[in-house]
Amino acid sequence: MASKRPIRVAIIGAGPIGLEAALRLRQWGAQVRVFEKGRIAEHVRQWGHVTMFSPFGMNSTSAGILAIREENCHHSFPEPQQCITGHEYVSCYLEPLARTHWLRDCIQTNTQVLRVGRSQFLKEDLPGGRQRGSACFRLLVRQGDQEIIEEADVVLDCSGTYAQHRWLGEGGIPALGEMGAQGQIRYTLEDITGTRAEHYRGRTVMVVGSGYSAATAVCALAQLAEQEPATWTVWLTRRDGPPIRRFPHDPLVERDRLAQQANRLAARGEGNVEHVPQAHVQSVEFLGPDKGFRVRARVQGKTRTWEVERLVAHVGYSPDYELYRELQIHECYATLGPMRLSAALLQMGGDCLQAPTVGVDTLRNPEPNFFILGAKSYGRNSAFLLQTGFAQIEMVLSLLQQEGLVGQR
Ligand SMILES: Cc1cc2nc3c(=O)[nH]c(=O)nc-3n(C[C@H](O)[C@H](O)[C@H](O)COP(=O)(O)OP(=O)(O)OC[C@H]3O[C@@H](n4cnc5c(N)ncnc54)[C@H](O)[C@@H]3O)c2cc1C
Repeated sequence: MASKRPIRVAIIGAGPIGLEAALRLRQWGAQVRVFEKGRIAEHVRQWGHVTMFSPFGMNSTSAGILAIREENCHHSFPEPQQCITGHEYVSCYLEPLARTHWLRDCIQTNTQVLRVGRSQFLKEDLPGGRQRGSACFRLLVRQGDQEIIEEADVVLDCSGTYAQHRWLGEGGIPALGEMGAQGQIRYTLEDITGTRAEHYRGRTVMVVGSGYSAATAVCALAQLAEQEPATWTVWLTRRDGPPIRRFPHDPLVERDRLAQQANRLAARGEGNVEHVPQAHVQSVEFLGPDKGFRVRARVQGKTRTWEVERLVAHVGYSPDYELYRELQIHECYATLGPMRLSAALLQMGGDCLQAPTVGVDTLRNPEPNFFILGAKSYGRNSAFLLQTGFAQIEMVLSLLQQEGLVGQR
């Protein structure tokens, strides 16, 4: 690490945070490789039909805009206050960013990082010792049917959480039968009023969950019910009261609009929505492709059973910690995010806009030069905001500068 060659940074994931980190590190002279298991911004594409709740000005950076403008001075961006969809975000910002001269040669798509370890050291060697930083990282990477080892001095894990769903059952474990039925249950956001409308139109659909993803699905199903009154939604939530939390004088207008609309549907039973609070799913039985599911839940101490044609489980996501099992990462026992950051986030009280100002030390791990950034840094806490991730990148950059690992511009 003390040599004069540029440091080698491996970035896992070409989502908004991985791309931004790659740009900033390239600009500061690092040698960067980005490994992306799918396409550029794969996860954002998967929920691309959804309108983002934060405006474009909060989802982009001046460095990113400048880099794209350097490439094409006529490129047109949305207005900073505009709330665009995920697909628009990819096409107007993330794709053009990935095509800039800074990034186009350093991103490998369809390339998955399977594991990260240290050369010379096992997990249990030198607990918390800075000397571990003298050995490079070894990344086991899969491209097609080929596996290779890549080396790096610094690793940024920006792999998000969207690919690992949580389970429906009470207590967060799979409900009886859920593991077997998993392939038929929808855990990610489908385009219910668009490309997937035929799958949902005129059906009885159960939605489980009380976050913004569940709210998005329920509002879309109510919209379908306006066109086709045979569409019914049974909405199960764990807690009592309005399903979606609202924040007083919420400056994120799009977020509040969604919460209001979903809560109104739940309260008034409009849009053919039946809200069932205090419901804990016990079992899921897949009855066959044309028949749907039998779902049993405990509701206020009594057992209720439904037969539904579609089952949508928006019960959150969880980080993939297998990636860094061989490293010394201090995980939070509640959120599975890195411990120091998770502890700092306890002050946040659920609103992503209230993210505490943290120092770079909160991003450090016992493992030197391994950083978990972006949505994954929040673990199972879903209150991550892109602008927090952009700030994390600047903190890591300044740390690497202080340590003399990246040069002055
Ligand atoms: C529906 C929805 C709407 C949202 N709207 C907003 C919003 O309006 N404003 C806001 O600030 N935030 C929003 N968020 C929250 C958050 O900002 C996004 O989830 C954002 O995409 C997080 O960016 P990221 O780069 O950290 O992770 P991701 O976008 O999840 O990117 C991770 C990337 O890593 C890749 N990857 C994963 N594992 C591996 C591996 N092992 N090897 C190689 N590559 C891998 C994935 O394919 C993916 O491309 C939203 C989230 C969701 C789900």
